[in-house]
Amino acid sequence: MNGYAPLLAALVALLAGLAIGKAWERYKLRDGQWIDRRRARESPHYILGLNFLVSNQIDLAIEELSRAASLDPNALEVHMILGNLYREKGQVGKAITVHQNLLQRPRLSRLEHAYVLLCLGLDYKRGGFVDRALEAFNEVLRLDQQNEYALLNLQKLHEEQHQWTEAYDTRQRLSKLTTTEARPQSQAILAFLENEIGLEALRRKDYSEAIRRFEGAIDLDARAVPAYLNLGDVRIAQGDDRAAAAIWEKLIDVAPDRAYLAFDRLEALAIRTGNPERFTRLCRRLIEENAQDWRARLALSRHLASSGHPRDALDLLFSALVQNPHALSIHQAIWRALGQLHHPPSLVDRYTELTQHAVFYLDPHVCMRCRYRSTELLWQCPHCHDWNTFVEERIAPAQDTTEVEV
Ligand SMILES: [Zn+2]
Repeated sequence: MNGYAPLLAALVALLAGLAIGKAWERYKLRDGQWIDRRRARESPHYILGLNFLVSNQIDLAIEELSRAASLDPNALEVHMILGNLYREKGQVGKAITVHQNLLQRPRLSRLEHAYVLLCLGLDYKRGGFVDRALEAFNEVLRLDQQNEYALLNLQKLHEEQHQWTEAYDTRQRLSKLTTTEARPQSQAILAFLENEIGLEALRRKDYSEAIRRFEGAIDLDARAVPAYLNLGDVRIAQGDDRAAAAIWEKLIDVAPDRAYLAFDRLEALAIRTGNPERFTRLCRRLIEENAQDWRARLALSRHLASSGHPRDALDLLFSALVQNPHALSIHQAIWRALGQLHHPPSLVDRYTELTQHAVFYLDPHVCMRCRYRSTELLWQCPHCHDWNTFVEERIAPAQDTTEVEV
């Protein structure tokens, strides 16, 4: 998996460089000025450099593009790409020097200025100079209000700093620029950010603000699962058990594939309010609606085992195992239930039979975007920083259409 990262980075750098070069070229033609950049662009070093870039030979690409750049010191885009390549190689200091030197050039147009600053902002970001990166991206936006790349980087920087309100505002600006097709995804990101702002209010015990934010997140995206969980937690803190149960049950209706995230909360609430059947009914309904729901079986079996019904629990676990033979959590629950029953040979045999082809792993989740793996469901990927990209990884069986097969 890691072998792809440098290639991907190089391609991104190439595309960004080409896009920047193109835009710059367009602008110059519109402006009616003509500076002869053909010497660099027509030199074999330029083409060779791009070819090396595509084949992920970054050092050779730098060598050839440096030669092309030396033929024509005015070829801004070649220098910009070179700087970007230094950054991708991790030579951030060198990248910063190249881009800072470009900024010193007299007669840079407004748009050229913005593009170079954008590259410089990316250098600062890569080098961990957060304040300077923020400053650079804000300056890009002052010069070019609609620069989506600067907005996106600004949003990510604010997210890294947990400046959720600023991240939200930036995303909102970006949302206004996105196409209609990309809007639902943008709304979903706004919902996650709104949820984070709500969590901040919850930590301050500002319940009315927290509720407003969590409800706002759900309005933005009806499948904003953490907002439902958190909204219920606020209701519990306010002593309103009924409202908490209602919101968590609503979560199960709108996102049945994520229902299990509310199981612990709903079970505790059902037991505390003296109505444990409410939880067992819910689990049975989910199993009935989706025969492959191993998590509802696991949750119900835990509930039954702890309330003195290990045999019923074991039956449920065996049927969960048929749906997902590889989930370690099911096997652990089976061992516990078998222990409670003092290992009756017929049940141990049945278990052995069911596990003949099982491979154990710990409830894995995988990021659909960058393939990062995690043992728990994460709302924001720690690797690619995208929102809501994790799916449950399954090896078998292959009938479940709601899960991505990996
Ligand atoms: Zn990721």
